[in-house]
Parts: sequence; C-alpha cells; structure tokens
Amino acid sequence: MQILDGKSLSLKIKAKAKEDIKILKAKDVTPGLAVVVIGDDIASHTYVKMKEKACEDIGIYSIVHKMPNDISEDKIIETIQMMNKNPNIDGILIQLPLPKHIDTDRVLQTVTSTKDVDGFHPFNVGKLALNLDTFIPCTPLGVMKLLNHYDINPKGLDVCIVGASNIVGKPMMNLLLNADATVDICHIYTKDLKAHTLRADLLIVGVGKVNLITEDMVKEGAIVIDIGINRKDDGKLTGDVDYENVAKKCSFITPVPGGVGPMTIAMLLENSIKAARSRIND
Ligand code: NAD
Repeated sequence: MQILDGKSLSLKIKAKAKEDIKILKAKDVTPGLAVVVIGDDIASHTYVKMKEKACEDIGIYSIVHKMPNDISEDKIIETIQMMNKNPNIDGILIQLPLPKHIDTDRVLQTVTSTKDVDGFHPFNVGKLALNLDTFIPCTPLGVMKLLNHYDINPKGLDVCIVGASNIVGKPMMNLLLNADATVDICHIYTKDLKAHTLRADLLIVGVGKVNLITEDMVKEGAIVIDIGINRKDDGKLTGDVDYENVAKKCSFITPVPGGVGPMTIAMLLENSIKAARSRIND
C-alpha cells in the first residue's frame, strides 16, 4: 500500500506557483484574490485563514470581506459586483456554506465567470461538462493532480464516487468521465452502497460521515481517495474512510489530514494564477 501524499505534492505546487508569480510580477501583474466569508462558522473562518496564509506565502494579494450572519443578500451581491469590476482582483471566492436566508445559487452566479476561481458558476460548470478549458473546482482538480502525480491513469477504471454535491462529487464525475473512466456516483438515496463501492478500482468518498466506508466495502487492491473532513470529539480531523482497516486492502490511499485537503488549497492558488494570466492574455 502506498500513501498518496497530498501534503508534500502541495508544497511542490506552491513552490512552482511562487516562481510563476515572480514572472507575473515582472510583467506588472500581482494576482489578486478576494474572499467573502459570511457569519461566524468556525470551520469557514479556519479555511479562509488557511487560504489567506497560502496566498501570502507565495505572493498573491488577498483581501477578505467578512460579513455578519444577518447581512442582506443584496449587500453581498453589491460587494461581489464591486469586486467583479476591480481590476486588481483576478479571483473571487465565496466561502460556503452561506447562511440559510441567502440564495447560494444567486450569489455564486453573481461572480463573473472569468474570476470564478472555484469553478462554481453555471457557465464554467457547463464548460467542464463539455471538457472545455475552464476553472475547475479546487477539490476535484486536486484529486486529479494527485492521481496524475502517482501515475494513476483513470482511463478504463471502474470508479465509484460517494457524494454527489455540486462542489465535490459532480465535478469529480465530469473530470473522471473526461478522463475516460467508467463512473458510478452514489448519494444518500443509493439503495445498496456496498454493492457499488465493492466494484470500484478507484473509490472516491466525499460525504462528511466518519467511518462511512469500512473494510468490507472495498475491493482488494483498490485506490481510495478520502475527501471527507470530520472533526472528532478529541478535536482531531478524520475522513469518511475507516483508514486503519481499509488501508491494508488498498494499493493507494489518501490520509486525512494530509491528503486531499492541502491539494484543494494548492489548486486555489493555481486557479488564481490562471485568472491573473488571463488579465494579460498570457
Ligand atoms: P454536501 O453535504 O453538500 O454533500 C454530501 C453528499 O453526500 C450528498 O451528495 C449526499 O447525498 C451524500 N451522502 C450523505 N450521506 C450519505 C450516505 N450515508 N451515503 C452515501 N452518500 C451520502 O457535502 P460537500 O460539501 O460535498 O462535502 C462533503 C465532505 O467533503 C465533507 O466532509 C466536507 O468537509 C468535505 N470537503 C473536503 C474538502 C477538502 O478539501 N478535502 C473540500 C470540500 C469538502
């Protein structure tokens, strides 16, 4: 069994990103990322801090708009429209989830598609489905980079994705279909989850449920990617896979933490650089 080490790969990607930014700065372009975070969800603020720090480390200018939980939808839209017009901002990220009174779709659709570094705008979602060059959601893109780094080609593999959200499972499905894998996607209403997971050469799980995937649900020699992030009672992070027992059966597996999480942030940096490059048609 080999560990898919997202942490060490992310460090290499960040080092390369730092060099790319030096080149952009020499052309008078400093990539700019604006982040909107609403409310006081601790996890959201932690992720935003991590993203801010990653930007600072490599030379991306970042600005965080913190808004109270009871902010009006119109005020959020107004802030995004302002950033859409700001020439120093190349990427705009809306930290999810948004408070219940806010229409998430309307907010995400306000981000202009050329600054949509999260790849959540319907225009970019459509382009991904058509396998056209676009902004790809950071977590699934990070998974693809990790597979590629370890020479794992999804072509012809039987893949099972557990979790079908717009930000994780569905873009993951499109990326793998585009890579010529056979894709099976499961969700909360899937009748017999184990019947699906057991068929998978490549099992990708992004649900948010501790120990959802146990040893008996995994085929011998499978590649297992755990996207889930759960906080245990002792404060430690864990994924959706019973790592200790499942790892024994795998050819490759991602740890949590240190697997997909750091790759997500690295991909945000890459997407921000991509957005900045388009400023000068680079
Ligand atoms: P979500 O709640 O939007 O979607 C969860 C999905 O899981 C849904 O499709 C739901 O139908 C499915 N599901 C729920 N219970 C299930 C069950 N018992 N069996 C099968 N499917 C089930 O969540 P999300 O935003 O997609 O995030 C999923 C997980 O991935 C969370 O733990 C989140 O923290 C994590 N995540 C990690 C990263 C990262 O960088 N590693 C990034 C984004 C999300």
